[in-house]
Amino acid sequence: MALIVQKYGGTSVKDLDRIRNVADRIKATCAEGHHVVVVVSARGGVTNRLVADAKALHPHPDDREMDMLLSIGEQETIALTTIALHSIGQPAVSRTGGQAGILTDNVHTKARLIDIKGGDIAEQLEQGKVVIVAGFQGVNLDGQITTLGRGGSDLSAIALAAALKADVCQIFTDVDGVFTADPRVVPAASKIPELAYEEMLELASLGSKVMQSRAVEFANKHNVPFEVRNSYNNNPGTMVKAETTLEDVVVRGVACDKNQTKVVVSELPDQPGAAARLFQTLADAKVNVDMIVQNIGRDGVANLTFTVPSDETFKAEAAIKACLAELGRGKLDLAETMAKVSVVGIGMRSHSGVAATMFTALASNGINIQLISTSEIKISVAVDLDKADEAVRVIHNAFDLDKE
Ligand code: ADP
Ligand code: ASP
Ligand code: MG
Repeated sequence: MALIVQKYGGTSVKDLDRIRNVADRIKATCAEGHHVVVVVSARGGVTNRLVADAKALHPHPDDREMDMLLSIGEQETIALTTIALHSIGQPAVSRTGGQAGILTDNVHTKARLIDIKGGDIAEQLEQGKVVIVAGFQGVNLDGQITTLGRGGSDLSAIALAAALKADVCQIFTDVDGVFTADPRVVPAASKIPELAYEEMLELASLGSKVMQSRAVEFANKHNVPFEVRNSYNNNPGTMVKAETTLEDVVVRGVACDKNQTKVVVSELPDQPGAAARLFQTLADAKVNVDMIVQNIGRDGVANLTFTVPSDETFKAEAAIKACLAELGRGKLDLAETMAKVSVVGIGMRSHSGVAATMFTALASNGINIQLISTSEIKISVAVDLDKADEAVRVIHNAFDLDKE
């Protein structure tokens, strides 16, 4: 008998028929003689709708109230899934994040996990029940409801699998696994059978929303192998683990993030410490800065261009304005939303020419590169939003990732 943690995402529980499908799958897993703990997300579209309602009332809703609001999405799903299981004769019980002992810090809307106590999950399993846990939510030490950042049910599942020492962790979604690019954008993309945590982490943090990047970070840190697979078929999915036996390809996949805002700060004093002050202010405001370019100072002034996640633009703007006021000069321009397109692969460490192939593919399709950033295993470029999908496709093709 194994202990299996399964996570079903929003699209897999979108309507009652899909919830019935999930219940059947859970029951079938139990019938094989396993203990099953299930993490579910809010039904597809619910979280976005709740966010939109809050923003219609206030442009910058209070973070604690957002957690209070968003956590109801998952609470609906745990109850409905449990009721669906009862209807087919499978004993089951639902638990909120708090009831499952998912303890977090106080940072509302992107809380960090402190501990997973598990509540009475072990006893419930012993009594032959499936335990259905609300993903995405926890409680802080004061008992306040917190959430783990968008896509956070992935993290709930992986953290529970670690805490319960589960034998298997399965992330069920609406595609067959992790592909060489988003299969909705690149029909020629193919499923990757195995991935190293590192590669999955880069893909996720560069915009492949199939997994939440924080969840992959946790899996890597605590060595929790997991499989991404389809809740609508029994095809083998993608195994994500410490090491893979895949042949050494240079580029494993292409990722795209369409939520980057270009920020230009011009007329900064061209002197040591100005950039440091600016970026320290942004760091203090917890804004993630990426793709930084500083041009050569002229007439004693320098210009800095960088990107910030679009949902942090408001915080970034306030922080930069305060810093420029202190410096006594400098001008802020928030440019349009950009897309960041990236290639990822551990093989890049030992291969040259990746940037050349990528940039040539873009140039020969008339796509202009605005900013560039690189690390050991990825290269990212910022391009216009309306060129993003085309950029992903031409890069995917240039690295011979298109399936035959
Ligand atoms: P869930 O509701 O199950 O959490 P998500 O919508 O968060 O599912 O993630 C699944 C989606 O991620 C897919 O429908 C797909 O469009 C998208 N996606 C983006 N990049 C990739 C990729 N490289 N491989 C697979 N899916 C991807
Ligand atoms: N419901 C949350 C979201 O939409 C968490 C999740 O789906 O994983 O972000
Ligand atoms: Mg998701």
